[in-house]
Amino acid sequence: MMLAYMDRAAAAATERDALELTVVTADAAECAAAKDFGGLVSARPAAVVRPASADDVASAIRAAARTTHLTVAARGNGHSVAGQAMSDGGLVLDMRARRLQMKLVSPGGGGAAFADVPGGALWEEVLHWAVSNHGLAPASWTDYLRLTVGGTLSNGGVSGQSFRYGPQVSNVVELEVVTGEGECRVCSPSSHPDLFFAVLGGLGQFGVITRARIPLSPAPRTVRWARVVYASFAEYAADAEWLVTRPSESAFDYVEGFAFVRSDDPVNGWPSVPIPAGARFDPSLLPAGEPGPLLYCLEVALYQHQQQQPDDVDERMGEMMRRLKYVRGLEYAADVGYVEFLSRVNRVEEEARRSGSWDAPHPWLNLFVSARDIADFDRAVLAGMLADGIDGPMLIYPMLKSKWDPNTSVALPEGEVFYLVALLRFCPGGGAAAAEELVAQNGAIVDACRRNGYDFKTYFPHYRAEADWARHFGPNWARFLDRKARYDPLAILAPGQKIFARTP
Ligand code: FAD
Repeated sequence: MMLAYMDRAAAAATERDALELTVVTADAAECAAAKDFGGLVSARPAAVVRPASADDVASAIRAAARTTHLTVAARGNGHSVAGQAMSDGGLVLDMRARRLQMKLVSPGGGGAAFADVPGGALWEEVLHWAVSNHGLAPASWTDYLRLTVGGTLSNGGVSGQSFRYGPQVSNVVELEVVTGEGECRVCSPSSHPDLFFAVLGGLGQFGVITRARIPLSPAPRTVRWARVVYASFAEYAADAEWLVTRPSESAFDYVEGFAFVRSDDPVNGWPSVPIPAGARFDPSLLPAGEPGPLLYCLEVALYQHQQQQPDDVDERMGEMMRRLKYVRGLEYAADVGYVEFLSRVNRVEEEARRSGSWDAPHPWLNLFVSARDIADFDRAVLAGMLADGIDGPMLIYPMLKSKWDPNTSVALPEGEVFYLVALLRFCPGGGAAAAEELVAQNGAIVDACRRNGYDFKTYFPHYRAEADWARHFGPNWARFLDRKARYDPLAILAPGQKIFARTP
């Protein structure tokens, strides 16, 4: 067995005997598993397991089940912000240990192509493998690709493609899962469907995803990428919602957007808008009559395939852009390669690493807010509480509920059109006190949403009280409890989500 895990104290020796696993001391791995991207909480595991196969995952879970207290957390790339991939005094499975075994499959011989990828593969690895080796690609992405397949499928996985192609949880046809009882099962919408849907958006509660089968289609060659600016939120939202509700044949492939402040601040202000590099923002073009503190940037993209002529793209782009009510003169466009487009956040990472803000705390808040309440939300929260910006992007763009399967475990607002609101705070100079203040402000935003009766859900929820979880899942809380009892009755899995306590 290729299990290697790290002990740290004599007390762990008894546990190791009980686990019957090979032990390798490597304190660095334990330390890494005690942290995450958020940098706000820390929980040190008893051991880190590096599974080479689904059998290894099953062995670790079964070994934990033989104890009265050990929990098991699958860790993707640790890009959670509130300790969701941690296990305090338990086992952490380093899912990155088995990441490079990807396979092209075409079951049934009907010509449809799929990628079989390990749960610990980064989306970036899937992209490069599929495009370079096969000229193919998945349809649904996250903005940033250094996230694992298992990690995003346990949450949702959204980006500007979601309105059209669905989130990542709608773009998977089969999973290999190890349940909380240490049973390895292959599941799909037709085989063990309840387990399949439970795991998708299941916050790691029902099983560890060891393999996912992702549909592929021909990779676009290039992307026409454009940004336009609005001074009025009402016009921004009306255009964004018009774009995401158009029929597929006349829709963009990607629609996103963000709010920014009226200043030359490089992170929050107008320099954050122009593409390509070197383009400039001319604030004198802004209309005089719109006094709000924020401006809005709508970002769209149209894919160009091998067989398409550039004229087709110009025509389709022109036809849609013409109808939008953005501020004339404040429009930007670039033609970029498909892989370059999908890798656009890597540049942000490089800059943030250089400035030190990548390693600072990240008190992020992600919400799904129904279109019904988004104008009010903008007034009260973005243009109210956050009028000076947040030292990071404030994404706000719509998607459609009908692209999500209601059988998955993801909690969504009621309305068909809802917005992702992502407050991606980087905490420069970030001392603990500053971070705590921002966490408190996030709490105040959620409280305001509740007080105002908005139709909303948190995305990447991190509640502590059972009542909050029950409210989060609403009518599906009973289903969530039932699934937990069925697939992880001892509550061994994903303890960092703080939903259930381990049963002795
Ligand atoms: P981890 O943080 O390691 O794990 C997350 C949760 O999933 C934990 O509970 C863990 O136990 C569980 N888990 C991990 N692997 C598995 C597995 N194989 N099987 C079962 N459970 C598992 N999200 C979006 O939707 N869209 C975006 O555009 C986006 N951009 C981001 C950009 C940045 C810079 C960052 C830091 C995050 C972004 N995210 C985005 C959020 C991201 O999707 C989550 O952090 C998600 O948890 C994936 O990260 P990860 O793979 O590192 O998972």
